[in-house]
Amino acid sequence: MIEQVNHYFHRAADVLGISPTVREILLTPKRTIKVEIVTQSDDGKLMHHLGYRVQHNRSRGPMKGGLRYHPLVDEDHAAALAGLMTWKTAVVDVPFGGAKGGINCDPSKLSKTELSNITRAFVRELKEMIGPNIDIPAPDVNTNEEVMAWIMDEYANFYGHSPAVVTGKPVHLFGSEGRSEATGRGAIIVLEEWLKDEGKTLKDLKIAIQGFGNVGSFAARVAVESGAKVVAVGDHGGGVNCAEGLDVEALATWVRENGSVKGYPDADAMPSEEVLTWDVDVLIPAALDGVLTKENARDVRASVILEGANGPTNFDAAEIFEERGITVIPDILANAGGVTVSYFEWTQNIQQYRWDLEHVRQELTKTMQRSYRDVRRIADEKKIDLRTAAFVLAIDRVSTAALSRNVVKQSLSE
Ligand code: NAD
Repeated sequence: MIEQVNHYFHRAADVLGISPTVREILLTPKRTIKVEIVTQSDDGKLMHHLGYRVQHNRSRGPMKGGLRYHPLVDEDHAAALAGLMTWKTAVVDVPFGGAKGGINCDPSKLSKTELSNITRAFVRELKEMIGPNIDIPAPDVNTNEEVMAWIMDEYANFYGHSPAVVTGKPVHLFGSEGRSEATGRGAIIVLEEWLKDEGKTLKDLKIAIQGFGNVGSFAARVAVESGAKVVAVGDHGGGVNCAEGLDVEALATWVRENGSVKGYPDADAMPSEEVLTWDVDVLIPAALDGVLTKENARDVRASVILEGANGPTNFDAAEIFEERGITVIPDILANAGGVTVSYFEWTQNIQQYRWDLEHVRQELTKTMQRSYRDVRRIADEKKIDLRTAAFVLAIDRVSTAALSRNVVKQSLSE
C-alpha cells in the first residue's frame, strides 16, 4: 500500500515542484514504534501479538489516527495509513498531524476480556508516546468506542483523567455526539457537493457499498435520508442486493445481531465482491484497501467512486478510471468527516464542554463543504484530478508548516 500512497504523493509533489530533500522529509515517518504484547487467554494460555504505531508528521499539531485490529496489520501498512492521515488532516485543515497503528490479531477469535487485556497491554507499552498533545488514537477497522474507553481508562491509571488521549469514545464517557456517524455522513456531504457541480442530486441515485461497518452503514443511512437507493451491499461474509433499494436500518439491525449482511432475508444473495461491479451510479468502497485493481477496474459500472475506505483504489485502477471518465472522490477528502468530528471531540474534552448533535452536524457540514470547494478549485485551476488536487492542497499546507518551524528557512523547491 505504501507504493500506492507514495505514487499519489509524487504526482502532487511534481505539480508543486517540490525538491527531492523536502519530499524525503515529508514522506519519512517521525517515529515508528513496534511492541510485543504478551497476555493470557481466558483458558490460561500465553498469547503473543505485535502492536504498531507509526507517527508520521506533527508539523500542524499532535499526531492523529486510528488503531486497527486485523491480521494484515504490519509496519508498512501502518506507515502508509499514517501518511494518509497527515494529508487528510491537512485537507480538512484540522490542527493535527498524522499517525496510524494497530495490533496484528484476528479479533473474531478473541473474547472481549482477551481483547481488553491486549488493548491495555498495548497502552502500557505506548503510554509515554501518546497523549492529548502528542498522539491521539481513534477507532478504525475492528476497533470501536468500547476499545477507546479501555484505552482512556488504562492511560488514566498512569496519568490521571485525560479523556482527550483518544477520540471516538462512547458519548456517556466524554465522546462527542455525532462521532460514530461522522465518516459516513461526511462522505455523503462531499458526494452531494460533487453532484451539485454535475447539476444532480442524490434523489433516486443507485448506490452499491462494500463494507457495512461504521463507515458503510452510516453512509447508507444518510444517503437514503437524502433520497438515494442502496441497491447492493457486500461485506466479509457475503453480499445482498435489492433493485427497489435495501431497508438499510433493518440491514444494520441484522448485521448487529448476525455479524454480517449474509443471510439477510429481505434481499437476494450474491457473492460479496460483485458489489464492486454492480450496475449503480455511485460505488462506495468502505471496507479494506487495494480492492479496486487493474483486474476489476474495467468492469466497474458506477460513474463516481466515493472512497469511504482508506486506499481502496490502486493507482493502475485509478488510471483506468480516469481514462473511462469515472470520477474518484479520494479518501483523504471523502472519509475525513471522522477525523473532523474527532477534532471536535478533542476540543470539547479540552474545554470540558459539550456540543449538541445539531451543532456537530452543522460544523461537520461546513468543514466538508469548504474542503470539497478548496480541492475542486485546485483541480479546476490546475486541470488535475480530485485526488492529485487534494494531495496538492495537503502537501502545500504541511510543507509550509514544516519549513516555517525549521531554523533554516528553505523554499519548497530548494
Ligand atoms: P468496521 O470494522 O466498522 O467495518 C469494516 C467493514 O468491512 C465490515 O462491514 C466488514 O465486514 C467489511 N469487510 C472486511 N473485510 C472484508 C472483505 N474482505 N470484503 C468485503 N468486506 C469486508 O470499519 P470502519 O471503521 O467502517 O472502516 C472501514 C474503512 O474506512 C477502513 O478502510 C477505515 O480505515 C476507513 N475509515 C474509517 C473511519 C472511521 O471513522 N471509522 C474514518 C476514516 C476512514
